[in-house]
Amino acid sequence: MNTEFSFSPEIKDRITVLVVEDNLLNQKLDSFILNNWGLKHEICSNGLKAIQRLQQKSFDVILMDIQMPELNGYDATRFIREELKLTTPVIGITAHATAGEKEKCLLIGMNNYISKPINEAELHELFSVYLSLSHSSETAETAELKV
Ligand code: MN
Repeated sequence: MNTEFSFSPEIKDRITVLVVEDNLLNQKLDSFILNNWGLKHEICSNGLKAIQRLQQKSFDVILMDIQMPELNGYDATRFIREELKLTTPVIGITAHATAGEKEKCLLIGMNNYISKPINEAELHELFSVYLSLSHSSETAETAELKV
């Protein structure tokens, strides 16, 4: 196990990550990395499922794929910000590292983005920033689902 990318026991205990990704292979890769880091996480296979889950449970950081069936990452993030009113950090997973796509991630309300295939060091750096900023959890219990 690579100890270079570790998190404190306090973070491991407190944090839960939501991974929103439709591709099975990418789900497994993300899970493998997060398990290695000792971070609790759940996986939703599209934006709609993620929104439904966020109405039941709070997460500390959201890893959000862009291209997904049912509801894509842009629309899911817009809903998370505008309807659920959640400020949970969202990191977009971009397939095409074009300036336009990255810009759109930020415009829509994502905090940051990472390109596929996910680089472990890069993701760890992003998580280090957003997990250390995360102090309290929040849920979107009262928001209505109207996608
Ligand atoms: Mn996808």
